[in-house]
Amino acid sequence: PAMPNSPDSPPLFPPRERVVDVLLPVAIGSAYSYRVPDGMEVAVGDIVVVPLGTRNMLGCVWPRGDTPKPADAKPVDRARLKPIQRRYDVSPLKAEMIAFINWIADYTVTPPGMVLRLALRHDESAGLARERTGVRLTDHRPERRTRAREKVIAALEDGFVRAKSEAAKEAGVSPSVVDGLIDDGVLETVVLPPEPAAEAPDPDHAVPALLPAQAQAAARLVASVKDGTFQPFLVDGVTGSGKTEAYFEAVAQAIRQGRQTLILMPEIALTQAFLDRFARRFGVRPAEWHSAVSTRRRGRIFRGVAAGEVSVVAGARSALFLPFADLGLILVDEEHDAAYKQEDGVHYHARDMAVVRARLEGATIALVSATPSIETEVNARRGRYVRLALPERFAGTKVPRLEPIDLRREGPPRGQWIAPRLAQEMARTVEAGGQALLFLNRRGYAPLTLCRACGHRIRCPSCSSWLVEHRFRRRLECHQCGYAMPVPNECPNCHEPNALIPCGPGVERLHEEAAKLFPQARLQVLSSDLAGGVERLRAELKAIEDGEVDIIIGTQLVAKGHNFPGLAMVGVIDADVGLGHGDPRAAERTFQLLHQVAGRAGRHEVEGRAFLQTYMPDHPVMQALVAGDRDAFYDREIAIREEAHLPPFARFAALIVSGTDAHAAQAHARALAACSPFTDKVRVLGPAEAPLALIRGRHRYRLLARCERGFDLSAYVRAWMAGAPRARGSLKVEIDIDPQSF
Ligand code: ADP
Ligand code: ZN
Repeated sequence: PAMPNSPDSPPLFPPRERVVDVLLPVAIGSAYSYRVPDGMEVAVGDIVVVPLGTRNMLGCVWPRGDTPKPADAKPVDRARLKPIQRRYDVSPLKAEMIAFINWIADYTVTPPGMVLRLALRHDESAGLARERTGVRLTDHRPERRTRAREKVIAALEDGFVRAKSEAAKEAGVSPSVVDGLIDDGVLETVVLPPEPAAEAPDPDHAVPALLPAQAQAAARLVASVKDGTFQPFLVDGVTGSGKTEAYFEAVAQAIRQGRQTLILMPEIALTQAFLDRFARRFGVRPAEWHSAVSTRRRGRIFRGVAAGEVSVVAGARSALFLPFADLGLILVDEEHDAAYKQEDGVHYHARDMAVVRARLEGATIALVSATPSIETEVNARRGRYVRLALPERFAGTKVPRLEPIDLRREGPPRGQWIAPRLAQEMARTVEAGGQALLFLNRRGYAPLTLCRACGHRIRCPSCSSWLVEHRFRRRLECHQCGYAMPVPNECPNCHEPNALIPCGPGVERLHEEAAKLFPQARLQVLSSDLAGGVERLRAELKAIEDGEVDIIIGTQLVAKGHNFPGLAMVGVIDADVGLGHGDPRAAERTFQLLHQVAGRAGRHEVEGRAFLQTYMPDHPVMQALVAGDRDAFYDREIAIREEAHLPPFARFAALIVSGTDAHAAQAHARALAACSPFTDKVRVLGPAEAPLALIRGRHRYRLLARCERGFDLSAYVRAWMAGAPRARGSLKVEIDIDPQSF
């Protein structure tokens, strides 16, 4: 008999077996079959280039039978199958990664191809020109719309930076179209981060001496990394307690063992300081992965990660889909942050999915926060997550005391927003050489423009939101869709000249007031509107750190993670903003945000102080903040959630039906409600108008399905959708399992 590998032996794969399933990064429910040409060897997990229609795209060879075939699928006519073009030169996806993609597709009720797309979208166009700057979509949409412009916008919709030539190529337009969009502010130019160092991080580069609590937490994490088994931790420490230094020890351990680490951050583009800190500890910066990294660089990191050569990645939520060769540790910094929830395309919560990934990879995972989400706090209380507590600040200073300023009794005069007592405290702080931060989570000059003559309020033509005045830019803007118009001279409704008045404050208006009160002080507004984008923002943050600013006026942009050594006091202009919209997460979000903002103060030698201007000093959230009693807040909030059958004590799925025609959208939502499978385990509520009823000209209706914990809500929704009428025309149905609002 012939030897198995001798030339005349039968091929290992008989010809009829040389057909494989390839999952493509598109919204199709199942993988497609392709023929493997003679002489090519492919295996499950290989990334391949295949033809689809008239173009070629990347796909992944998928386990057969993993994706359901449609009921009406015809038997495959092998002779007519298209051949795989070539294998792509990148390490194959591991079985764990394939399992992860399938798991997310299942859980979120999305076609697996859409999840694969999250993993592959780094490298849709390899081999582009070397450019030092890239372009990225801003919130602004052009007043002049052409097909070519729409193509560019569609190509850049994912928010990632591309080199200019690359953007033009992807959209199939000439580079001058891209230039025109830059001139109109629709695209912004971004300086690409410098090339990462080639050396690997050194676990012993600069090992700090840890405080006992830090050392204890670090030891637990290190032991778990050594163990190499799945274990979630909650690193629960007050702001400034040195959580980062503690978890760096776990990173060092992973590096020593040759395993990879993923550090997720909510706002990576602003965490320059974090990267520097990493470099001080490990000698080099970690690989950065976020929307301001060029496609070319992402391609390189993707390959390095897959080959196991890149040992630490710090990134935004999309980094969760990188194909790590051997992931040993995941850290989710500021795990409570709402930015971890992706609300379009595949709706997923990066923190929850990180836990799933850690389980599939046998990795240690630590969620890190001073104000854990209610979900995480409940998991820690039940012992599912091991709590590692860091109760004291590293510098020995106290967490600032919060003092209420009762706006009903000691508020400022009409048309002003800084209460006299707050102004006094600011004056004292600045005179003593300290910095003060005024916090107001409202961009622009005024959130509403009103006609004094007829009462008309200026609304966005295509959203259910008011237009916000931006005085620096001299226009009214919609924060939902980016629509902008010049500030009109007369009321658009009654045409009365000079009757329009700005209502309420935004940071620009607060700046105006502070400049009048403190003419000598150096002021700086920090919001995402800062002209010059991320680069400028980094420069301003540095100026603040260096003490070149006396008074900072900022939105939630300054609340997160920054370390301002000279900041002695914080004034929250409107502590009530987030409360009382009937949003069940309002209390949690307000508590977290205000606690974080206050935590910016007094991180170093100076004792910090924080003032809350409020009309509701008796509200339990304000009381817990003022008393510095975190547990009181969690106890109460957890009890409320349990009592009211809200997450994490129940589960929700939201179906958002949207369309350009309100009646059609509502009718479709009703039709969906009518065909929901009956079971006494699930209650379907609605349809009702979605929290944002109109966005970009699309009317939105929402259905909520509620069930007990432990019920397979994804399977229920999948069955529901299988029997539901198709959404036609402009209608669209989005599925959000575990929605943020319910
Ligand atoms: P958190 O992340 O808990 O808010 P950080 O990790 O930012 O706190 O630590 C607060 C400050 O204390 C930082 O400036 C950090 O460099 C410093 N720090 C923390 N632990 C140590 C340590 N063991 N040795 C030296 N400096 C430390
Ligand atoms: Zn709008």
